[in-house]
Amino acid sequence: MTETKPDTETPAGASAPKIGLVSLGCPKALVDSERIVTRLRAEGYVLSPSYEGADAVVVNTCGFLNSAKEESLQAIGEALAENGRVIVTGCLGVEAGRIREQYPDVLAITGPQAYEAVVEAVHKAVPRAHDPFVDLVPPQGVRFTPRHYAYLKISEGCNHSCSFCIIPHLRGPLRSRSFADVMREAERLVAAGVQELLVISQDTSAYGLDLGYPKADWGGGRVETRFADLAAALGSLGVWVRLHYVYPYPHVDQVLPLMADGRVLPYLDIPFQHASPRVLKAMRRPAHQEQTLERLSAWRTQCPDLGVRSTFIVGFPGETEDDFKELLDWLSAARLARVGCFKYEDVDGAPANALPDQVPEEVKEERYARLMAHQQVISAEVLAARVGETLEVIVDDVDDEGAITRSTWDAPEIDGNVFIDDSKGLQPGDRLMATVTDASEYDLWATPLRQSSKPDA
Ligand code: SF4
Repeated sequence: MTETKPDTETPAGASAPKIGLVSLGCPKALVDSERIVTRLRAEGYVLSPSYEGADAVVVNTCGFLNSAKEESLQAIGEALAENGRVIVTGCLGVEAGRIREQYPDVLAITGPQAYEAVVEAVHKAVPRAHDPFVDLVPPQGVRFTPRHYAYLKISEGCNHSCSFCIIPHLRGPLRSRSFADVMREAERLVAAGVQELLVISQDTSAYGLDLGYPKADWGGGRVETRFADLAAALGSLGVWVRLHYVYPYPHVDQVLPLMADGRVLPYLDIPFQHASPRVLKAMRRPAHQEQTLERLSAWRTQCPDLGVRSTFIVGFPGETEDDFKELLDWLSAARLARVGCFKYEDVDGAPANALPDQVPEEVKEERYARLMAHQQVISAEVLAARVGETLEVIVDDVDDEGAITRSTWDAPEIDGNVFIDDSKGLQPGDRLMATVTDASEYDLWATPLRQSSKPDA
């Protein structure tokens, strides 16, 4: 079972109904799983770590790419074979007909963010028992991430219409959470020991647009429900704040001073996806007309320590060798700290499927390999330049051989690590200063300087 373990103990009563959970997909889907489990735990259900022990299994699916859909269908099949009582939710849930056709025995199918419907389906499949421990669910809810970092979802849905993407169809238009709601959750997480907040959404820089940027009371003053004001408020909580899924709009300039003075991490996760204006236009990317190299350069002037991560798609329909070379040249000029790359693949229902001049698979493979090799050289140079610098790092794990930590340029799971030999006295969640002694293409090695802060025990 692809099990997801919560970070708290279950309020186990011997007769409490047990639910298994298989969580697939992106951090946004993980947050959905956390909400479902938080709600079930609050009602007295306990999580089962195995198929055998579960009275029913919830499979939270991903439906972004066809390969992810296949993986989700396989996970449903496995849960049915191992347990037999399966409730399907998540992005693939919008294709209920396809799921039913392959697996007519699933108990219920609901779509993304359909928390109420999932919980109702669980009630139907496994009636809830009275449990005197229901009040023991922690105020910050149940989380699947380690105790020291947490994803903070600030909005649902997306107003864009990228031609390769069906997320707006799956999750609907942008719906921002209120300023107070986001901040209350952030404060609860920090009070529970979280040292790093990872801000996620489909388009973090669009936060508040759908609400008309209303004013809100926060911290004894008036703020606007906007990206920059939210970043500033989060930055006042004394923990690391990392911004994911930001687009290079001019108003993003407003968060650079927060990064320069250490309130928000000097890190931007911007999915550029390509550099050729022709390809970006065909992709219908937000901010595709922005002069991204000029913007990067201006940001680095404001905040020299800025680390930018991005993802790119190679082999998009119509991408020529010249377009691809333009992307490589752009990468040479942009010198990004962290880069991920995907080979384009059709997604059922996406407009890009119908575009002419589909790129042959072997050309996609070849461009993928060239991009990765090209960026590896850049990344090695960028990281080598850090040797001798003293950085703040956060500890993820400690064992006999040392500590695995991350710098401000490293988001958990997707970026690199900073390895520290001397882990004496360190524990996950500690933040400390360390001097970089060595570098590879993706990782750094460092010696601790002094411990700067610790979470509450
Ligand atoms: S910005 Fe584009 S790729 Fe991202 S969710 Fe919206 S439509 Fe999809």
